[in-house]
Amino acid sequence: MLQSVNPTTGEVVKTYEAHTSEGTEKIINAVDKTWHHWRSTSFMFRSQLMQNLSGLLKSKREELAFLMALEMGKVKQEGMAEIDKCAWACDYYAANAESFLENEPIPTEAFKSYVSYQPIGTVLGIMPWNFPFWQVFRFVAPTLMAGNTAVLKHASNVPGCAIAIEELFREAGFPENVFRTLLIGSKQVEKVIRHKAIKAVSITGSTPAGKSVAAIAGSELKKCVLELGGSDPYIILEDADMELAAQKCAAGRLLNAGQSCIGAKRFIVEEKVYAHFLELFTHEMSAAVFGDPFDEDTTMGPLARFDLRDELHQQVVASVEKGAEVIIGGEIPQIKGAFYPPTILENVKPGMPAYDEELFGPVASVIKVKDLQEAVKVANDTEFGLGAAIFTANRSKGENIAEMRLEAGACFVNDFVKSDPRLPFGGIKTSGFGRELSVHGIKEFTNIKTVVVK
Ligand code: NAP
Repeated sequence: MLQSVNPTTGEVVKTYEAHTSEGTEKIINAVDKTWHHWRSTSFMFRSQLMQNLSGLLKSKREELAFLMALEMGKVKQEGMAEIDKCAWACDYYAANAESFLENEPIPTEAFKSYVSYQPIGTVLGIMPWNFPFWQVFRFVAPTLMAGNTAVLKHASNVPGCAIAIEELFREAGFPENVFRTLLIGSKQVEKVIRHKAIKAVSITGSTPAGKSVAAIAGSELKKCVLELGGSDPYIILEDADMELAAQKCAAGRLLNAGQSCIGAKRFIVEEKVYAHFLELFTHEMSAAVFGDPFDEDTTMGPLARFDLRDELHQQVVASVEKGAEVIIGGEIPQIKGAFYPPTILENVKPGMPAYDEELFGPVASVIKVKDLQEAVKVANDTEFGLGAAIFTANRSKGENIAEMRLEAGACFVNDFVKSDPRLPFGGIKTSGFGRELSVHGIKEFTNIKTVVVK
């Protein structure tokens, strides 16, 4: 049984019957059967369906945002923006998949030799609740356009979103069983990965979940793409535009109530401008209006679940016990709902959860450093390597540090890190491996086949 609980009220929204193992088996076999037909459809046919899907998403943006607010507390404006981004990914791959996967001739001594990108079969997507539509669409749009079929195991707290996505495919006119949702818990995932019809896995989630999935996929020699946790460092140099840095850093920290893998998490500030930055940053963070995600004035909703809120608070408490100081927030508010206030911690040091771990909520760790050298050292002093940013008036210096010195899959200069269908997305170190989006993402689930004709 799967249940969605409204994190704003604590009330059960709906209970869903989980798929039995026979039901799961039946769906996977049906999707696999469909693949043998789907793989031979033309790019034009698939593109048309993707465009239908994009149109449908646009027309239902409000309704789908409502569902996200209900199941995981995302504010309505952010929910609608998320749906728009899904439509963008559908349009992007509808327009570009064919050219991305065109045969690539490579001259050799043979009469003809080239690389061809062939679909591999049914791919399992294991997805998290934080962007319940975007995470799925950024996986599924390129995967299907490449000629694969897909099954989704969504997070257990967003079954309504998982079912809505399956319905969208049906309504857009996709053949039945090109994409299906499996309503199962994480304990059932191992059997699905080991199913002979599943050819590869893409997981977006925490690092422990990624390690477990990768171990099982590895034992079956099945490819996986791992989009895992992060503790993104943002460096603020003394020559930066402080107003801009404070505003972007707060926006990057508070998006989705701080529940973003590429959320700005550690703020590393040169000592000369530390006090100034902290003052402006505190002002920006305090300006957040947290409350009912359905309310137009709310900029930050509750966390997605009560246990996640409590876990975050424990990380704050443990950091404070080890010497971190609370500038704002840090207390569970006495209101109904899984709320946590915007929180700033300073004096954050190695050995504290706020320094070493991912804090998945609106908590910022501010760290003072003496110079750029130390800033880069602290930025890279983490097991994660998803995103990073640097703020400086010297663009070329910022670019050089972003490109050459920060250990992350995406580095931004004078902005917060965001995903974009045109650019590859993914991490290094324990943030995972493989890439989603762009020309690189679509090739992950293809057989990069060499063809030689003598
Ligand atoms: P999570 O607990 O790891 O869950 C993610 C998904 O994996 C869910 O569908 C979950 O199912 C499933 N899962 C959990 N443990 C599993 C296991 N041992 N075997 C197989 N499947 C398992 O993560 P979350 O709390 O939903 O999401 C937050 C985490 O995701 C953060 O660490 C965040 O940084 C990361 N994230 C990464 C990216 C990225 O692109 N790198 C994007 C978004 C989020 P159940 O719900 O049934 O447990």
